[in-house]
Amino acid sequence: AGAMARATKLLLGLLLAVLLLAATPAPSAAAAAKEKGSGKGNGGPVIGIDLGTTYSCVAVYRNQGNRITPSWVAFTDSGERLIGEAAKNQAAANPLRTVYDAKRLIGRNFGDAEVQRDMKLLPFKVVDKNGKPHLEVEVKAGDVRALSPEEVSAMVLARMKETAEAYLGEKVRDAVITIPAYFNDAQRQATKDAGAIAGLNVVRLINEPTAAAIAYGLDKVADGKERNVLVFDLGGGTFDVSVLALDGGVFEVLATNGDTHLGGEDFDQRVMDHFIRLVKRKHGVDISGDARALGKLRRECERAKRALSTQLQVRVEVESLADGVDLSEPLTRARFEELNADLFRKVMAPVKKAMADAGLAKGDVDEVVLVGGSTRIPKVQQLLRDYFGGKEPHKGVNPDEAVAYGAAVQGGIVRGDAKEVVVLDVTPLTLGIETAGGVMASVIPRNTPIPTKRAKMFTTYEDRQTTVTITVFEGERS
Ligand code: AMP
Repeated sequence: AGAMARATKLLLGLLLAVLLLAATPAPSAAAAAKEKGSGKGNGGPVIGIDLGTTYSCVAVYRNQGNRITPSWVAFTDSGERLIGEAAKNQAAANPLRTVYDAKRLIGRNFGDAEVQRDMKLLPFKVVDKNGKPHLEVEVKAGDVRALSPEEVSAMVLARMKETAEAYLGEKVRDAVITIPAYFNDAQRQATKDAGAIAGLNVVRLINEPTAAAIAYGLDKVADGKERNVLVFDLGGGTFDVSVLALDGGVFEVLATNGDTHLGGEDFDQRVMDHFIRLVKRKHGVDISGDARALGKLRRECERAKRALSTQLQVRVEVESLADGVDLSEPLTRARFEELNADLFRKVMAPVKKAMADAGLAKGDVDEVVLVGGSTRIPKVQQLLRDYFGGKEPHKGVNPDEAVAYGAAVQGGIVRGDAKEVVVLDVTPLTLGIETAGGVMASVIPRNTPIPTKRAKMFTTYEDRQTTVTITVFEGERS
């Protein structure tokens, strides 16, 4: 927002419009380090936090300690706050006091198409407060509050901070937090605000795919040649594809694509639907409206799915699922793949689109990196391998932890512990100004590495016009 305000000021009164963009994260690693040094004398470790939609993870550069935690918050009758696993586990029994997926709402306006769509899919109420979406939750019996996405994310971040402190045995203040490459200025700022509410000093925000590439040490190629990296991130609820170019230790995001509503939870749902049908057929009981039974079944289906990544068959067992129904059924990997065939096929379209946007042919991709728990699924790996002509993806780093790990490495760089990698950002969306008739004229195309400076000539609209209002737009629709 600061950058935009600066740009707007610069434009005012000028017929020659110049858009100047400061890099959203700190301008350079060196500058960030200096800033930090002069800021406070903490000198403690800088932790890396992957603030995910469904799970969050914290890492410390020191010796890679890290922990994943569901990005869920809940409240009990007595007003006690539950975060992570404890919150997720009681969700079915306590739907009015449980919230999650704040990342889908953070930094957005209530009227956003995405917010309007997500609202219908989330079990808790999303309400409009000053034009911003808030998550409605009962914080104790009879006390309903509307929490901002920043507040909910701050609770998750505070838990990540505590986790790191417990592991390190010392206080932590500084953190590098990751965000999706496509996050706009407002979403990045709101994430920083969440960090501040959690008592963290956010020394830098870095893009998730960049963090993943750093986790694999792809920044440290010996020959110094330019390399293209495709990061394939399939998590619990979201799917992101990013194409990065690495040149002389600098990462540039060439293109991003994905599906904001595709991930492990959809695969779980397919397995659930299968067993709901089976129970109906075999036992004549319909459990589709039974929240308690569904909660039990969901946990068991996720467990079965995970097991099928390494085994060819599992037994799905839930004792007293519903009235006199004990479920005990086999599920093969082949059947699991069949139940999800269309979803698995769907993941290749964004890969193709990102490649086209980046202007790359398959052979131009030097490295493929797998991120997100769902990339453990053999079928998903196979589809990707087939597309890239048998190329083996990088998958040695735990896919749940790669992003946080890369962020911690970046934290080490900011602190001066590790060799420097300059992380170069791009404008995730096209920036431009409003012209006659409310039409946007693009000035800086999306995916332009920042900082950048562009000039474009505009004329006044009427004769003897003495003032002009410059409205800066961000987005792809003119
Ligand atoms: P993430 O958001 O990246 O932490 O990914 C979480 C998703 O990965 C959840 O939907 C998990 O069910 C899924 N997941 C974790 N481990 C496995 C596994 N071994 N096989 C398949 N899916 C998994």
